[in-house]
Amino acid sequence: MQQVFDFFRKLFDTSDWPARWQCGTWTDFHGWLYITSDLLVWSAYFAIPFIIIRYISKKHDARFIRLYFLFAGFILACGATHFFDAVTFWYPVYRINALIRFITGLLSWITVLYLIRLLPLAFSLRSSRELEAEVEQRKKAEAQVRELNNTLERKVQQRTLELERKNKELEQFAYVASHDLQEPLRTTTSFVELLRKQYQGQMDEKADKYIDYIVQSNDRMKTLIHDLLDYSRIGREKKLVQVDCNHLLAEVLEDLHQGIRENEAIIRAGELPIVNAFRTELKQLFQNLVTNSIKFRKSNESPVVEINAEKEHGTLTFSFRDNGIGIEPTYQEKIFIIFKRLHKRSDYEGAGIGLAHCKKIVELHGGKIWVESVPGEGSTFFFTISETQ
Ligand code: ADP
Repeated sequence: MQQVFDFFRKLFDTSDWPARWQCGTWTDFHGWLYITSDLLVWSAYFAIPFIIIRYISKKHDARFIRLYFLFAGFILACGATHFFDAVTFWYPVYRINALIRFITGLLSWITVLYLIRLLPLAFSLRSSRELEAEVEQRKKAEAQVRELNNTLERKVQQRTLELERKNKELEQFAYVASHDLQEPLRTTTSFVELLRKQYQGQMDEKADKYIDYIVQSNDRMKTLIHDLLDYSRIGREKKLVQVDCNHLLAEVLEDLHQGIRENEAIIRAGELPIVNAFRTELKQLFQNLVTNSIKFRKSNESPVVEINAEKEHGTLTFSFRDNGIGIEPTYQEKIFIIFKRLHKRSDYEGAGIGLAHCKKIVELHGGKIWVESVPGEGSTFFFTISETQ
């Protein structure tokens, strides 16, 4: 213990030994070869840590950083032992020399142990050739995915075009059919009218009743054909304009004021936005939804309709909430199909085309329509319109 204490006390003391030049018989050549070699090794060892640090500072994704630092410390310590070997030719600092050697030994072993610990990880690392092969494989897979995507896109485009064409054909058909049906209908209507005028009261009661049935059916047929024509006309004259929905709703309510008054309906509306839309179609949409909300009222309650709009991620969602009879969950999608009705004509009149109209109008504006409803409590119809069309 005393020796250890003395060692550190006399760390810089050089009086115990002569300088190395005086130890033994050095020729100048031998001594300077020794010194120059030590200094060369030291300077090289000294430069290596700087190169390592520069590498780490530039390569931000470098791995094994701790190993680099350990290695830098270990190599610096190695260099220092050579430096002090050279120094001892003039100053015999053998204690410092021994201490530095000890530190070098320690650092060397820490590095060795750390290396052993890292070995499995190092084995698991892929070589650059393996990485290149993997990149190559990925590139190939990506190219395949791109190719598949392109094919899919082409197919979807083809399908969309085909669907659009079929839709157009169908619309054309509905238009022509309903248009052409009007003519024979007009003829039967006028002949039945003639029959009625000329023979009503002169035939037996049954004949009069039959004529009434024919007139009623003709009227229904007229409404149907009229609705169908309207349906096929949606979006024919496409012209987007800025529509202030507050004004639009006011117009709709004005048009419906009689029904509203008769049913003692209460209509509440929040602040509605200005949208880019097909005005006539949008008005029809509002009108159909408000009309239905009043039509499908509960017999013992005044209809209350609330109209609002909310904006989220550039999409506007309108809601028309009522306190009417509601819709069973199984029918909540089906009601948007043309001619789909849930009630007898004697309970609620209508052709079952209103919501099909609404769906077509909303889709024309790039949106979707759906309903949330609790039977016996009421329904809320939602539709979206994207703000930038
Ligand atoms: P129509 O009103 O001519 O029967 P619609 O297409 O407008 O046809 O509606 C289809 C069906 O959806 C209606 O027959 C009705 O049963 C149901 N429906 C529509 N709106 C409402 C509503 N607000 N409340 C309850 N049921 C509704």
